[in-house]
Amino acid sequence: MKSTNHKQLSFSLALLVSFLTASILFLWLYLAQKFNLIFIGCFVIFIFVSTYFFSTYMFQIFVVEKIRLIYKNIHNFKISKKENDAQQKLIATKTLDEVDTEVQEWIQGNKKEYDELKKLEQYRREFLGNVSHELKTPLTNIQGYVLTLLDGGIEDEEMSKVFLERTERNIDRMIEIINDLEEISQLESGVLTLKPITFDIVALTREVVDLLETKAELFNIKLAFAELYESPIKVFADKENIKKVLTNILDNSIKYGLNEKGRGKSKISFFDMDEDILIEITDQGMGISDEHIPRLFERFYRVDKNRSRDVGGSGLGLAIVKHIIEAHRQSINVRSALGVGTTFAFTLKKGN
Ligand code: ADP
Repeated sequence: MKSTNHKQLSFSLALLVSFLTASILFLWLYLAQKFNLIFIGCFVIFIFVSTYFFSTYMFQIFVVEKIRLIYKNIHNFKISKKENDAQQKLIATKTLDEVDTEVQEWIQGNKKEYDELKKLEQYRREFLGNVSHELKTPLTNIQGYVLTLLDGGIEDEEMSKVFLERTERNIDRMIEIINDLEEISQLESGVLTLKPITFDIVALTREVVDLLETKAELFNIKLAFAELYESPIKVFADKENIKKVLTNILDNSIKYGLNEKGRGKSKISFFDMDEDILIEITDQGMGISDEHIPRLFERFYRVDKNRSRDVGGSGLGLAIVKHIIEAHRQSINVRSALGVGTTFAFTLKKGN
């Protein structure tokens, strides 16, 4: 947009007033038969000059100075004192349009910041609510078992054993939640720095598969590689953290990978993508409907709350996975179809 300053405005106003004065004077003198071009000329020039200076002065006093004062306050708020001194002269030369553009930009910037803070605040509140809810359930269970034992249940050896075992399971659950929370906070605060090395991702995945084999058998899930993958596939990443990522995704594919026939198969594939290696883990489970996908990596987000708790999830696994992958400056995504299965895919930088 073309910028207009108060002098240009005064000039236009003076032109308009002069034109109107000239027209009236012209008509009046013409009708009175006292037509005098020199007189009209001098008078119009006088009107033009006086209107111009008068309106410039008025604009300066009543509009420009006041707007500049507001702008100066906004500007002072935006920049440091040192920069401020250097910029004071610049402010005086700005046109009203430039001031308007800058103020609009400032408002937009502030609005964005405000929206982000509001979102963070809501996130924080939800998070605190979730933490207390997650810890409350096992604590209430433990309280129930202890009270029953104190009320005489302790006399019954069989019952005591069952209740103590359940208490232990609930304590394990709380420890799992607290460990995961600690890990997330370390990842978020940057305390946990990555130590990337070059390693064979196939060998690491085999290690994780071996560790989960017993659990997979228990859930009637078969963990399998898409190909033989006889030669190593090198990646450059933090091995320990990538092990956590693989463990979590494979563990989920066991927990949620059962099809309606009560069994399932999780397939692991590796793809060469020039600079990166793409790792995909596909299960044949119940799948995840579209509305849940965007929130899946949020802390404590669960699609099926009961199933997740039954199979022993803290609800923090995928949040940790996402943090780890993003800390590697790589990406993770999920594709899913209800009743068909789910695929988690993430990339890692190729190693030499
Ligand atoms: P949890 O500890 O509950 O497993 P996660 O963060 O690992 O927490 O996963 C979040 C939720 O995502 C799970 O509760 C589950 O509802 C859903 N989910 C994760 N993986 C799968 C999968 N392979 N198939 C179906 N749902 C899944």
